Amino acid sequence: MASDRHGEHTRAVHLPSAPVPAQQPLGTPVYRTAAFAFSSSAEYAALLNGEAEGYSYSRIDNPTADAFAIAVAALESQGLDRAGPGSTGPGSTGPHGPITAQAFASGMSAISTVFWTFTGAGQHVVAPAAVYGGTYGFLRHVAARFGVQADFVDVTDLDQVRAAMRPETRIVYAETMANPTTAVADLPALAEIAHAQGALLVVDSTMAPPVLCRPLEHGADLVLHSATKYLGGHSDTTGGVVSGAPGLIGQVREVRVDTGGALAPDEAFLLRRGLETLPLRVHRQCSTAMRFAAAVAGHPAVRQVDYPGLPGHPGHQTAIRLFDAGPEGTRFGAIVTVTPHGGRQAGYELADRLRVGQVATSLGGTHTVVSHVASTTHRQFDDAALQAAGMDPGAVRFSIGLEDGEDLIADVHQALDSLGRTMKERA
Ligand code: PLP
Repeated sequence: MASDRHGEHTRAVHLPSAPVPAQQPLGTPVYRTAAFAFSSSAEYAALLNGEAEGYSYSRIDNPTADAFAIAVAALESQGLDRAGPGSTGPGSTGPHGPITAQAFASGMSAISTVFWTFTGAGQHVVAPAAVYGGTYGFLRHVAARFGVQADFVDVTDLDQVRAAMRPETRIVYAETMANPTTAVADLPALAEIAHAQGALLVVDSTMAPPVLCRPLEHGADLVLHSATKYLGGHSDTTGGVVSGAPGLIGQVREVRVDTGGALAPDEAFLLRRGLETLPLRVHRQCSTAMRFAAAVAGHPAVRQVDYPGLPGHPGHQTAIRLFDAGPEGTRFGAIVTVTPHGGRQAGYELADRLRVGQVATSLGGTHTVVSHVASTTHRQFDDAALQAAGMDPGAVRFSIGLEDGEDLIADVHQALDSLGRTMKERA
């Protein structure tokens, strides 16, 4: 620390350090620093050589980013814990060993890092035809340039998955619930297919956060999220996270360090805070979504409603098998895809006629947001490509928020009523 002997600039820069409290803060401290200081060069060297524990540089590791990551690991490992409540977290044990996690600057950073880590030139990936557009783009346009091949199949058809497997397949990739089709992946069956060939099952569970489904319990080797969605929950932060056994996560961390997708401390703070209300938010969003889907399904202007909670949904039984039942019954998620009669134009207009639901990007936040799938998230798909991925050109994806269910139902009904009148006039 600077003393009175030093000049004013030296004294300004070398101010006393913040106190290290003896008591654990209830909130998460934000370590908003890029660099850490050492007591000696020997300590610095030992840390960089992995001979001592600690922090050196925030692209490598940051305590606030780690606070978020280990909190997610605790939630993801809940069902794997054999030692009882209170012992979950990175030290908990289960069939997969202790679970740990790495945090990232975005969901795409988490996803790309997993592919960079476990695939290389000449290797192969099996992924869903209805995969998130960013993941599709990464595999098709980036990984392909580095010699990684991908086949896109309907992962709800296990014969298609088996037929796509090759000796060089390293990853079977799935989304617990697909966006926007809400198709539910049979994770134990996919794990069996992947493991029989020595491949990893990697699951993007963004649409089914850990209070809904914990893929590691169902045979996945790695589970990842766009934390931007339900984990953060307020549409104010971008982030990603990957959880799994330390042997795998250690490899993921090395590639994250080399590719630079670290989560910033302020973002980590917000994401960690979001986790504390995850069950409250998701419970409410799921129960509103269930009522919303049932109320919309009977409207005469509606051609189809995709929601795994509806008994006619092809993934209904799989969802019951894999998803948590809370006091309110099984949680089927909070994404409802509504397809009105009238094709592409009708979908476009349905989104615009809502007054509570807002046309906006992203999902999983407090606001109910909608997007007309064919003109937004899947605009690269022509009608034939949409059909191949099981999407209708008129489909509108609703991400149900925390508003009152009655208001959301009244809102969609007024939009559908007016759309129905317009369609009749045009016919
Ligand atoms: N996975 C899914 C299912 C998504 O919906 C998204 C974003 O919409 C991502 C991954 C990518 O996440 P991010 O936007 O945080 O990079």
